[in-house]
This record gives sequence, structure tokens and C-alpha cells, in this order.
Amino acid sequence: MSDRGIYIHIPFCDGKCPYCDFYSHRPDDGELDQYTDFLCENMHRLLPEGITADTLYFGGGTPSLLGARRLVRIKKAVEKNAVLSDPEITVEVNPSRQDTDFEMLFQNGFNRLSFGLQSANDKELMALGRRHSVDDVRCCVKAAQKSGFDNISLDLMLCTPHQTTESLMRSIDFCNDLGACHISAYILKIEQGTRFYDIKDTLSLPDDDSQADMYLAMCDRMEENGYIQYEVSNFSKKGRESRHNLKYWHDEEYIGIGPSAHSFYNSRRYYYSRSMQDFYEIKTIDDGTGGGRDEYIMLALRLSQGVIFQKYRERFNEELPKEYIDRAKSLSGTGYLTADDNAIRLTKKGFLVSNAIISRILDE
Ligand code: SF4
Repeated sequence: MSDRGIYIHIPFCDGKCPYCDFYSHRPDDGELDQYTDFLCENMHRLLPEGITADTLYFGGGTPSLLGARRLVRIKKAVEKNAVLSDPEITVEVNPSRQDTDFEMLFQNGFNRLSFGLQSANDKELMALGRRHSVDDVRCCVKAAQKSGFDNISLDLMLCTPHQTTESLMRSIDFCNDLGACHISAYILKIEQGTRFYDIKDTLSLPDDDSQADMYLAMCDRMEENGYIQYEVSNFSKKGRESRHNLKYWHDEEYIGIGPSAHSFYNSRRYYYSRSMQDFYEIKTIDDGTGGGRDEYIMLALRLSQGVIFQKYRERFNEELPKEYIDRAKSLSGTGYLTADDNAIRLTKKGFLVSNAIISRILDE
């Protein structure tokens, strides 16, 4: 069993972006301290005893809203209750606040930052309801780099209101010029329960064909800038993949802490509901067994390396079912995937319709 990952959800934001359905709210007075105190005082109940992990990820919400002092406290509580071996420690940072003490984070062992840039175009940022400018991100990233951080990821969004292929290309170049070694780039999805959902008919968004064109143009531009695509929506410079997120796609185990956080531990999946109260009572909900064959294949096909037969054999002590390989081979003329005697891999075009292709291979 490889080392696990630990995810800590910080459910606070200073406002709500109209497209976002993550669990977060504006903190009440004293709530940041209350949440931090709860995590620190209960870490021994929130983490399995004797756990070893090699990644720690603070996601949200907006973890940086806690400030460096609280984040360091929580990290120390984790270290008291888990063995962290050569860990990648990531914090998601909100660039609208210029007061993050990057130096304190860096000196305390945090070594990776993820900034929600979304676009390097102020008009697009406004349309997304973001509360920062392009310049804010530039200043924040430079301040972080000055403090010693060289492992920096930026998030981009595709197919958003007002975005054009040209502006998307400029956003990618902006990330590269700023020295980001990792980019996550997701196509905007209109989720039920968000403000965008309520006004979806008034939003001017690209149709499916234009979305596909933008995605493929993005993949090319990433490559031109030296970013290697290692997952449907994730690109990195060589050796700078997100070690934490790779655990999800490798179907490896992790512990999630915080309201709405999911865990996969000792072959079981479970999660906390989207309720502060339930979390403070440490009530988890069982979500069945994890780590099965189809789950492994489904997740591996999100990666550029695909399902490697040798790795499947090592994991399950058996060959990949022949009918899966046959079905994949029968699709290989479509341009959506390649299948040979060593691996099945989706192409970039295949990534765009990955759910449908994966269902065909698994015959669901
Ligand atoms: S800052 Fe991030 S988590 Fe918070 S509302 Fe916006 S997208 Fe959602």
C-alpha cells in the first residue's frame, strides 16, 4: 500500500462565485478560529491512528482566508497525528487578498500553492464574478515566488462568457510567463443550485463544437509552452504533476477532513455531508466499497498514460479482462483512443467524450 493523501477542506470564502457549487460560505465572526480550534483539538479523531501520508492538501473554499498562522497550526496538528514522509503540501490561495504571509508558509514546510486565476482577462474575470484582477494574481504569485515557492499551479476556466480562443491562448501564455509549473483547466459546467444556473438562458456560452475546438486549441498551446498533459484537465512542466491529485486518478487511498470531504480508506469510501453541524459531530456517511476493477479503469482512463496492463496486473494480480481490450481495440479506428498490447489510452479528442468512451469499454 502506498502512502495516503490527506485533504483538509476549508469551507470559507469571502463571497460566492456564481458558477461554484463547492461547499463554502462567508465566515461569521470568530468562525475561522472556531474551525481551526476544532481541527487542531480533534485531529486524533479525524485521522486514522498511525496513518502515513506523503501529501497534504488544503482545498476549499478558500484556505488562504485562514491566514498563515492558522494553516501552520493545523499542519502541526496533522504532523502530531500522522507520519508525513517527504510530503507535498499544497494550499489553495485566493488572489483577491494580498495579505497571505507566504514566507511563514514556506518556512513551515508548505511547498506548493494553487491560485484560482481562471482567466488573464479582467472582463472575463468580471463576468465570472471573481473578486480579483489579473494584476492581483500577478502580484500574489510574484510575492509567493519571492518567499521561495517555485511549485505554483494556476487554475483556468474554459468556455466562459466573453472568452475567445485568442483570449484563452493569452491566458495560457500569461501562466507560462509568470512561471507556473502546473495548470488545471476546466470547462465551465453550469451546476444546479448556482446563480449561473438560474440565469443560464441569458449566458452567452460556446456551443459543443466551439467548446471542443477551444479545448483542442488549449491542448496545443499548452504543449507549445512546454506543459505536458497528464490528465483530461491537468497540465504540468516535467515532474511537476500534482502528487496529491494523482492519488485520486491512481485510485489510491486518502483521508478527507471537513464538511463535504470524501475519503477512501481501507477499501471503504465515506464522506462528510455538506453541514458544519454534522462535521463538528464527526458524523460520516458510508459510501460503499472502493478500489474495484472498473473504478480503477475508469480513473486511469482520465490520465494520458491510460490503463497500463502491467500496472493493472500488479494491482489486481490478474490480466485486464480480454473483453475490455477487445472493445477498446474495436474503437481504436475512431480517433478517440489507442489500444495496443500494453495499454489503452484516450486521445485528446477522446478526452472530450471520455464518459461515453469509458462506458463503451466497460459496457455499462
Ligand atoms: S472562491 Fe473558489 S470555492 Fe469560493 S466561491 Fe469562488 S470558486 Fe467557489
